[in-house]
Parts: sequence; structure tokens; C-alpha cells
Amino acid sequence: MTALPMVVRDPALPSEVMIWEVGARDGLQNESAIVPTATKVEFIERLVDAGLAVVEATSYVRPEWVPQLADAADVMAALQRRPAVRYPVLVPNMRGLERALEASVTDVAVFASATEAFAQRNLNRGYDEQWEMFAPVVDRARSEGLAVRGYLSMCFGDPWEGVVDPVAVVAGVGRLLDMGCHAISLGDTIGVATPGQVADLLARLTAAGVPVEAVGVHFHDTYGQALANTLAALRAGVTTVDTSAGGLGGCPYAKSATGNLATEDLVYMLEGLGIRTGVDLDALVTTSAWMSGILGRPSPSRVVRARSHQGE
Ligand code: MG
Repeated sequence: MTALPMVVRDPALPSEVMIWEVGARDGLQNESAIVPTATKVEFIERLVDAGLAVVEATSYVRPEWVPQLADAADVMAALQRRPAVRYPVLVPNMRGLERALEASVTDVAVFASATEAFAQRNLNRGYDEQWEMFAPVVDRARSEGLAVRGYLSMCFGDPWEGVVDPVAVVAGVGRLLDMGCHAISLGDTIGVATPGQVADLLARLTAAGVPVEAVGVHFHDTYGQALANTLAALRAGVTTVDTSAGGLGGCPYAKSATGNLATEDLVYMLEGLGIRTGVDLDALVTTSAWMSGILGRPSPSRVVRARSHQGE
């Protein structure tokens, strides 16, 4: 018996995709039950063992904002970091960056909002003020030789503002790149985008001179569109996709939002398309099944359920 899925190449798609694994940060930060530090470290190390080369590790936010990530320094200290693997961390401000530098990180990320409403709620800043907050952080990080990624949230829809104007998103991406970010992650934070909207935004970004190699996509599966949206992005030339193992995560400001696109669901599709990821799907499924046992509920990932016989 030949293992599934059947591989059929599509020449319109890239031959390789870099998966930006966010389960340990974006996934766990939305879990109310505190996961022990040693479990987080084991989770990250198992994700690396499964072949993921970029594993976002934690976020240096203030502990009172996100209690789940109050142990950021302990996680980074305990982690056995491997030379070929990147372990990005989020830094909301200069204090966060200082803490990240103490942990000798090589990759950081700042997180901005494409909308006024979400900037106010997530950052406690106005849309225009947020750039003033990030600019010195990005400057300092770059002067320390770090790679800086810029997350842009609510690129497609916003729970308070509805549909988000793609012109505003292109402007936000431009601000982050001008500031010195080497890469951008376009967030569909509440999971409402559809493939035509994704293709339109990517075409606008390309027309504005944004190199597609600098663009990653970050989809949530609230409306079941995450894989379709990812395929639309791959067709537009995107080769970096954010996912979380087992589909962990959500959005604290949008109660109905489900988790990120599950890494396993993406890997299964990419394997079928003959696109290299370097990931061992079985090892990943085993890791997510283990984590769902710790969290006490089945994984929302269809592939994890199918491959680990959860929910039978
Ligand atoms: Mg997310």
C-alpha cells in the first residue's frame, strides 16, 4: 500500500513552502488553562523534531496581559535551541525587546493592527500611535542584528469595523516594511476572508511594489476558509504560511473565532501537491494528539482527528 495522499504536482504552485509554526505562542496564548513551562518546552522541541524549522516560542508581553506567557524567560532559558532552527519571539515594546535580547534571540516580531478598533483594544493605542511605539523597537532590534517580522492583524475583516479596506492594509504593510521589518504576516485574525479577497489583496501588494517573498499569510479557520485561502495565496506566489500544530488558538477579542489553520491540515495538502515542507506528518500528529490530551479536548484539526482516531 502506498501512503496517502496521492501526489499530483501543480506547476502553478511553488515547489517549497516555509511553515511558520505559531502553536506554542499564538496557540497557547489563547488557552485559559495554564500549561506548565516544561510542557511548553517539550512541545516546542517535539515540533522541531517533527521537522519544523521556524517555531515561534513565546511572547514578551506583560504577564498581566497574557498570564499564559508569563514564563517567557523560563521557556527560552530551558529550550535546547538548535543551530538550523529559528525560534522567533514577539516583542510588543522596548521592555519586551530588552528581555528578548537577554535571552539571546535572533528573531523577533512586532504586532500591529490594520484597523483603528483593534489597535485600541489589542495595543491600547490609536492606529497612528502604534507606529510610533514600534519604530524604536524595530530600530533597536535591527541595530542588534535581529531579524524583525511585522504582524499585521485584521487584514480582511474586523469584528467592530466589518470589512477592512485593502488600501489601508497595503498602507500598513508599507509602514512595517519602511520601518525595517524584513517580512510581513497578513493576519485574518477572525477567519472571515475568502480566496478572492486574498488574491485581490496580494495583487494590490505586488502592484505597490511589495516583494511577495516578504509576505506570509496567517489564516484562521473560523468559517472553514483557511486552506482555500492558503491555496489562493500560494497561487499568488506566497511561500510562507503561518499555522499552529493541532489548530491551537483563537482570538480573545472575537469569541467565535476558531484557531489558526492547523499545521497538519496544511502539510497534508502540500504533500498531496508535491510541495516540500520538511515536516514529518506522523510525528506532528502524534505531538498534537499528545497536546490535546494535556489540554483535555480533541484537536480541531481534521487531519489530526483522521490520523490519530480522535473523536471516534
Ligand atoms: Mg493566529
